[in-house]
Amino acid sequence: MPMNTLFRALGLCLIIQTLTLQGAEVRWWRGNLHTHSLWSDGNDYPEMIARWYRENGYHFLALSDHNLFQSGTRWVEIDTNSGGRTAFDRYLTTFGPDWVETRESEGKKQVRLKPFAEFRTLFERRDQFILIPSEEVTDRHLAAPVHLNFSNLAHPIDPQGGDNVLDVLQRNVAAVTKQREETGQPMMIHLNHPNFGWGITAEELMQVSGEKFFEVYNGHPAVNDPGDAIHASTERVWDIILTWRLAIIGTGPIYGLATDDSHNYHQLDPAKSNPGRGWVMVRAPHLTAESMILALEAGDFYASTGVELASIRHQAGILSIQIVPKPGIEYRTEFIGTRDGFDQSNAPIRAKSGEKLRVTHRYSDDVGEVLLSVEGRQPEYRFRGDEIYVRAKITSTRPKANAVHPNEMEVAWTQPFF
Ligand SMILES: [Zn+2]
Ligand SMILES: [Zn+2]
Repeated sequence: MPMNTLFRALGLCLIIQTLTLQGAEVRWWRGNLHTHSLWSDGNDYPEMIARWYRENGYHFLALSDHNLFQSGTRWVEIDTNSGGRTAFDRYLTTFGPDWVETRESEGKKQVRLKPFAEFRTLFERRDQFILIPSEEVTDRHLAAPVHLNFSNLAHPIDPQGGDNVLDVLQRNVAAVTKQREETGQPMMIHLNHPNFGWGITAEELMQVSGEKFFEVYNGHPAVNDPGDAIHASTERVWDIILTWRLAIIGTGPIYGLATDDSHNYHQLDPAKSNPGRGWVMVRAPHLTAESMILALEAGDFYASTGVELASIRHQAGILSIQIVPKPGIEYRTEFIGTRDGFDQSNAPIRAKSGEKLRVTHRYSDDVGEVLLSVEGRQPEYRFRGDEIYVRAKITSTRPKANAVHPNEMEVAWTQPFF
């Protein structure tokens, strides 16, 4: 190599090194985007919950109580709130009498619920842990629950209502979109547990515009993720909406989240909505709400109930995944997608009387078919060129701890690639 070329190469190396030192390295951040506290129907104090997540390997947490922000002055009775004396005693022992505020009112002992702006200061530390202000807008149409999580809002939003489920969805999405445009602040909209109360069908969800996320996994035991004989599973719903949104309607992809929807913090039990069941791993340079949301919106994340991924690459027509191995554990990866020219036929499901049920239609096996199933720690898929999208589901041989569903194994879901 001529000397001037060598010097130029060395110079370039130095420039690259300097840039790496100055710029933050892109890395994975772990977070839960759906959590309840005593401010609504969770049974613990927000500080106890934030502390649990910070001490259990999470980097960000969205505390998303029903229809409110944790703000303003709120006193609750110690013995009759849903956490009761047990939660209070633990709270007092952990944070001490200087932090915990109590008073007597009409002969009853009360405790002050601390607002978000106060308790966040105890936990947040640069590139270690952040709290994201959130709200679960808890709306409905007739008997159908329509719940949406809004993260990083500037101020809370009231349920917007509407004439049908799609209208309720669209009006709530519009309220956040408006606030985002007015403030210039990145905000995240995600549809919660579509199968809770069998509230939302794939045909409704595929039509919502401006909505990019839904919960393919929610750790609450009452949300029916696996579906049943007449209701599609959340994973089946995902494939249907991806296919229709990408190939037919043009409403863009929907990304799949795993969340806890935790309410119960004192007793670990498959029948309780406990923390630690489902989370997202987001690839970004900085740990800020803005940085998390922008990476999530770019699809630069995966959802997990236990499987950890080192990398996900989509280059030169190949989707390749590196799994972080655990001793004695095996992994199977299914690459799932729909191809051009798929069978578009679908039919509503009817009751015995012939009446059409308000549930997701039945679709052909072409929709969300398993294109390839491989074992090992470095699965890869070569695109043929006719795929509308391909996503990967990695299932391990390790049973999920404190699982809601019988025979549940640890899983990770990548986002769809086009
Ligand atoms: Zn909900
Ligand atoms: Zn919830």
